[in-house]
Amino acid sequence: MSRPRNTKQRQLILEVLRGTTAHPTADWVYQQVRAVLPNVSLGTIYRNLGVLKEQELIQEVRYPGSQARFDGNPEPHYHFFCLNCDRIEDVPLPFCRDAEEAFRQKLPEYEVMGHNTEFFGLCPDCKDLAERREQ
Ligand SMILES: [Zn+2]
Ligand SMILES: [Zn+2]
Repeated sequence: MSRPRNTKQRQLILEVLRGTTAHPTADWVYQQVRAVLPNVSLGTIYRNLGVLKEQELIQEVRYPGSQARFDGNPEPHYHFFCLNCDRIEDVPLPFCRDAEEAFRQKLPEYEVMGHNTEFFGLCPDCKDLAERREQ
């Protein structure tokens, strides 16, 4: 009997993630889902995020020193991480499949299934702030 409820929770988590481009943490997702389903637990959120990730409906984005973040867009794309405010944004660059092909040609003994490229630095807001402080 618990299956339909699980499906409903998972659907809601997916909707929450698809409704934002902020690449939120599990905790943020939990707060949003709890507003609709007050009895949901953080453990349930984590479990469902894991299932959605396995089903390739969402992505997990990890930067060293930062909490895991989640993305409702499962298509491969590049991210920019701000080292100052931890903001993660999508980068509007074409995803370079050539890199995978180049890898295969150089190292044919491996099976490459994909690649990630993470840009990092300062977002425009933090860059402005840093520049103003220097003056
Ligand atoms: Zn920033
Ligand atoms: Zn993204």
